[in-house]
Amino acid sequence: MKAIRRFTVRTVLPEPLRQLEELVLNLRWSWHNETLDLFRSVDPDLWESVRHDPVKLLGEVSPQRLAALAADRRFLRRLQDATEDLREYLTAPRWYQSLDDEPPAAIAYFSPEYGITAALPQYSGGLGILAGDHLKTASDLGVPIIGVGLLYRHGYFSQFLSPDGWQLERYPPITPTGLPLTLLREADGTPLRIQVGLPEGRDLSAQVWLAGVGRVPLLLLDSDVRENDPAARDVTDRLYGGGTDHRLLQEMLLGIGGVRAIRAYCRITGHPAPEVFHTNEGHAGFLGLERIRELVTEQDLSFDEALEATRSGTVFTTHTPVPAGIDRFPRELIQKYFGGPNETASVPVDRVLALGAETYEDGDQDVFNMAVMGMRLAQRVNGVSRLHGAVSREMFGGLWGGFDVDDVPIGSITNGVHPETWVAPEVIELAARELPDVISAGRGWEGVRRLAEGEIWRVRRTLRERLVRDARRRLRESWRQRGASDAELSWVDDALDPDVLTIGFARRVPSYKRLTLMMRDPERLRRLLLDPERPVQILIAGKAHPADEGGKRLIQEIVRFADDAGVRHRIVFLPDYDMALGQMLVQGCDVWMNNPLRPLEACGTSGMKAALNGGLNLSIRDGWWDEWFDGQNGWTIPSADGVEDPDRRDDLEASALYELIEDHVSVMFYDRGGDGLPRRWLEMVKHTLASLGPKVLSTRMVRDYVVDLYAPAAASRRVMSADAHAGARSLAEWKHRVAKAWPGVAVGHVESDGVGESPHIGARLTVRTTVELGELRPEDVAVEVAYGRVDDTDSLIDARYQELTDTETVENGRLRYVGEVPLDRTGDFGYSVRVVPRHEMLANRAEMGLVALPPAPLGMTNGDLR
Ligand SMILES: *Cc1c(COP(=O)(O)O)cnc(C)c1O
Repeated sequence: MKAIRRFTVRTVLPEPLRQLEELVLNLRWSWHNETLDLFRSVDPDLWESVRHDPVKLLGEVSPQRLAALAADRRFLRRLQDATEDLREYLTAPRWYQSLDDEPPAAIAYFSPEYGITAALPQYSGGLGILAGDHLKTASDLGVPIIGVGLLYRHGYFSQFLSPDGWQLERYPPITPTGLPLTLLREADGTPLRIQVGLPEGRDLSAQVWLAGVGRVPLLLLDSDVRENDPAARDVTDRLYGGGTDHRLLQEMLLGIGGVRAIRAYCRITGHPAPEVFHTNEGHAGFLGLERIRELVTEQDLSFDEALEATRSGTVFTTHTPVPAGIDRFPRELIQKYFGGPNETASVPVDRVLALGAETYEDGDQDVFNMAVMGMRLAQRVNGVSRLHGAVSREMFGGLWGGFDVDDVPIGSITNGVHPETWVAPEVIELAARELPDVISAGRGWEGVRRLAEGEIWRVRRTLRERLVRDARRRLRESWRQRGASDAELSWVDDALDPDVLTIGFARRVPSYKRLTLMMRDPERLRRLLLDPERPVQILIAGKAHPADEGGKRLIQEIVRFADDAGVRHRIVFLPDYDMALGQMLVQGCDVWMNNPLRPLEACGTSGMKAALNGGLNLSIRDGWWDEWFDGQNGWTIPSADGVEDPDRRDDLEASALYELIEDHVSVMFYDRGGDGLPRRWLEMVKHTLASLGPKVLSTRMVRDYVVDLYAPAAASRRVMSADAHAGARSLAEWKHRVAKAWPGVAVGHVESDGVGESPHIGARLTVRTTVELGELRPEDVAVEVAYGRVDDTDSLIDARYQELTDTETVENGRLRYVGEVPLDRTGDFGYSVRVVPRHEMLANRAEMGLVALPPAPLGMTNGDLR
């Protein structure tokens, strides 16, 4: 019989062990090795069988064992130490507390998924893992973030295989009482309720679970409450499941409900209100609408004024250069949910629709684009690697009208990874002993070059061996699951070899990641694996989205190849890629392979995790690798950009991949000195750590967010909100006036002198122009000369700008501007002039998408800056 309701009964711990509860309830244990060791010592076998989940551990440990521990002085002392360490971690001042200039009092961070620990399966891939690392790092640095997300009752699926290698999915139910979460309650003890209005006069209700991620509170909304009808209860049933309506409801709950949950949390706990809202990808974009609604109804602002105030305090991070990866809804659906009887007077549905409209060339008139809305609702926008920033400027440039791609105001902050989560304890210990500042302060990485090579190799061997052991266990489990008996599985004990060059390849399985590129030439792959002198073993993992049949076929192709008795000891597919398997792989593999279709990988982070563990990257030059590959810290698979035929491109890139492994990677790995050490390999490992270590740390990333985005956003927000939002009111009025008058702005005649017949470096060029301002005042605009190198088509490359400040009025509304630019580099040089709106509350010159350029010379099109 099936149970109609399930819950988890928690143990009552003996008094001396009560602090275990305090430790379990704060997820800091997930990145604190001493606390994990303490949990392990509660019952080492049980710890393994509950897969390192401390809530399960305490639920299942025997009363006898607990009684014994309650009398174990040594254990109690360790428990006391761990508890005191946690309390001090939660309260002592950290990096953020040392900042000057009043950084934001609080920052709200919204994400549809969070990867914090394998025991909380509320993530599907990179986006969630990044969000988890962001929160943990914010906690480590003392950054006052409040996280907001949804609690999915079935989380993301766990993956297993059918006998013929087809992906099957299971959604293990989650009971919040069985997780390290507490229900958020009003002061009088009643559980908090959040409501979001739906069409037909219904309300979607949610309760809110609070997870402690170190110092960071994470609020998770959960629609599985009694007052909801069955459909509404299922809104938070699973991550990225269900149809379009379902997804929209999830996003309304996340964005609108999320803001309401934050307000309630601050009211109940006295936490300062966020000054900045950061949305991790477009899914939470409705949070901007809710904040506009608040301002219109509570501060008596107009929609446009509230929009300015909201934008100033919003940061939007885009995460995908894959058009299909962008979150879009049919416009009628938005009309249905934000219009009709559900329309809020303060947030008219036509304004909502306009925010998500694809108003650029090639835009689809029938869709509502969440990324586009995210960009219109945020004054600061970034991609997640330098290359991804460039691709995003290209992709979304249409939103900024006549500006060059380079001037599109989308910057980038390259992702990083949280070392305490991803780096093996052995490596952390080695670092702490020899180079105490590298992880804690991100300093002194050059010292890696002085480490003893034998020591590094010994740690690498330990990690490889652990991976091999764990992989055999997983392989056996998977084969049993697929129907094999133990008698058939004796080979598993000899599968993989702790001394063979180990390549890891683990990722989600969208087509651009090209799971099966390595199988382009199966015979060549087989020869690689079975090479008698220099064998290679490959560990593969990855989940396909449940609706992605194509992805499942790729997995099946790999599994079938790896099932072959001739190679199965050298190539394995390990089902159910999650954080636990990810940790094992990035720690134990010698080489981390990545072969996406460039430039479709926004950043990628798994290779960073491998690098911090002393692994080497073998990757297409995409995402973060495009930025930080330096020729000696790993290998780049040449990418056949520009080859149109995808099959041919795959052939070329696969063939280059084989060649690299055969002629370089494995040669270097097996090239041993008299002491058995691969000298050149270890040099490369050291160089990787020294060069990449400080860059890939998530502390670098979060500091960049604080300094480059959060602090400026808070400063803008303060200017906007001072004096009853006088700033927002005047900016909205000014923008309206400028936009209306802009068609009257024109650049007239441009001329220059001062460099004579043969311009030489060091000379100064004087530029003069006349400008027509129409209805605008001189202080409304900046007139700039753009100058620098030019290419064959006369386009300026990496143009620099200098404002022309010397003005005189020539006649009615017509002004003359003069200024000088230095000729500070040799070679082809060009210049032009532009007029852009200027206001101290704009974050950049391109913000309004308005620019006036000189009339195009004959044969040239307007829009190019020349
Ligand atoms: C790190 C990680 C990811 C993201 O890595 P990519 O390099 O972006 O593929 C995805 N899933 C898991 C389990 C991870 O640990």
